Amino acid sequence: MPLRHDTEHASNAMSDIGVIATTARGRRAADRLAAAWPRAVRIVAADSPAQALRTAFTENTAVVSFLAVGATVRLLGPLLGDKHTDPPVVCVDESLEHAVAVLGGHHGANDLAHQVSEVLGSQPVVTTASDAVATTPLDSYGADLGFRIAAGAPLARAGAALLSGESVRLEGIDGWPLPPLPGNAAADVTAGDCSAVVRVTDRSDAAPDIPPTVTYHPPSLVIGVGAARDVPAGEVSDLVDSVLADNGLAPEAVRAVATLDLKADEEGILLTARQRGWEVLTYPADQLDSVEVPTPSETVRDEVGTPSVAEAAALRAATEAGSGAELVAAKRKSDNATAAVARLRPRGRLAVIGLGPGARDLTTPRAVAELQRASVVVGLDQYLEQVGDLLRPGTSVRSSGLGQEEERARSAVAEARSGAAVALIGSGDAGVYAMASPALDFAGADIDVVGIPGVTAATAASNLLGAPLGHDHVYISLSDLHTPWEAIERRVRAAADGDFTVCFYNPRSAKRDWQLPRALEILAEHRPADTPVGHVREVSRSDERATITTLARMLDGGTDAVDMLTVVVVGSSASRNVAGRIVTPRGYTWR
Ligand code: SAH
Repeated sequence: MPLRHDTEHASNAMSDIGVIATTARGRRAADRLAAAWPRAVRIVAADSPAQALRTAFTENTAVVSFLAVGATVRLLGPLLGDKHTDPPVVCVDESLEHAVAVLGGHHGANDLAHQVSEVLGSQPVVTTASDAVATTPLDSYGADLGFRIAAGAPLARAGAALLSGESVRLEGIDGWPLPPLPGNAAADVTAGDCSAVVRVTDRSDAAPDIPPTVTYHPPSLVIGVGAARDVPAGEVSDLVDSVLADNGLAPEAVRAVATLDLKADEEGILLTARQRGWEVLTYPADQLDSVEVPTPSETVRDEVGTPSVAEAAALRAATEAGSGAELVAAKRKSDNATAAVARLRPRGRLAVIGLGPGARDLTTPRAVAELQRASVVVGLDQYLEQVGDLLRPGTSVRSSGLGQEEERARSAVAEARSGAAVALIGSGDAGVYAMASPALDFAGADIDVVGIPGVTAATAASNLLGAPLGHDHVYISLSDLHTPWEAIERRVRAAADGDFTVCFYNPRSAKRDWQLPRALEILAEHRPADTPVGHVREVSRSDERATITTLARMLDGGTDAVDMLTVVVVGSSASRNVAGRIVTPRGYTWR
């Protein structure tokens, strides 16, 4: 079953952007967008700008208009329908100062305004209330998990209550890895004392009018179906509908229909699923055979090789998509079909996020989006301070000091296992000498894990130094706290012998001062004394200091300037100092 755990990033979602420009300047800007996203942008031309805009609105999934906001709104007014289905619209002014999210802010326009601004250097202008104060917006709450908002939900009233600090009662959100809501929204607010309710349920009971209640249906149900050959579609439909209705389950919460692989072409099942937009999942008999079910049947086993189809397939598919499953509607039969419903236990989510070397603009937009997606953020206190202003209201923060790596990793995984959306943060790239590996060592298959790459110290530093990584290179950590020095030295020798450019992480501390000179000596045995060496302290931070020197000078006291906030890059025998920059040529030279 394709899991829905990946955050849909706007750039992926907006695959088809219609761009309209009339002036020469607008057209140049449109060309820049097309160059930046060649597969997504379509520059729409027509007899008149008005016609081009209408065409883009009806034919594309998103619109960027280089017409004024007023003109755009006037032209599109008659075409406006539902904000959930209309394409988002962003207007950019003639001087490219502002990219205004005009229509569909929470349905892509706010993101598009930011993306357009990254390309054009404009300022995104976002006017949707909840984004202005960075609170998780209710109309996209749980959207990336597949939540559906029940019809007629009082989103505006509940959203206003949330933003103005009134008490909002949360029901049923436990176990779903949802983004945070501010502190005035809580599970322990009593129904009588709240201004609004936000509830997550796969049940179909109608929400009360008072207090205003927003219902989200999570994709938590799988319907298992078994059927005789040529079962009429009407019979399957009726059976499925009655099983859901009689058990008080919401059809909007159904994520899939599951059955035996022999039924993969059973038209009655396929048609029923197609009509409702449900995916069909099929399993071979031997996989269903091993699922424990309440009502097995020996007759069925004799016929198809498993004692249960409906119950077993429902449980099997739900378990696969979640971290466990239970049967919520036992098997029911009609003349030619059987149906049962299983509910999955959702999987928690762990995002392992690299924040980059320090500067805010070297933190990727995706890392920022993931930070805001998390309800629990775990990390070293210094990194948490660095990103504190980005976190949404209601985020819980678990900071810890240096050295408690394993404990931090364990607690992040434990929180995710309990169903939370957890972000584990680290500097640079979290997979490079950092938290990703201890965390994934503990993480089981019962949680979803996403890794967000960050700019690691070596690449940030090498861009300041020139182009030292133009050919093969290695990263070596000189910390012998957890790795015996003999192992480190063996790798340094191999790198020396292989003539790799070498990036040293954790190069030198007050207590570990002889390792770097020793490693450089080994390299000097295999490459010239004038080999360029660069070291950068505090890359991209306010005290950044980059130094370019040579191997000989490093060995002559040059290592004193290096500490644990520094990364050291030693060129290969082919690296050269060109105009004060280290350059390692692309072509192979072999001595
Ligand atoms: N995950 C980090 C590396 C952690 S190991 C990353 O990908 O960058 C810690 C070592 O990384 C430090 O001892 C130093 O060698 C290097 N380092 C991390 N951030 C740095 C920075 N801003 N400037 C220079 N070196 C840095």
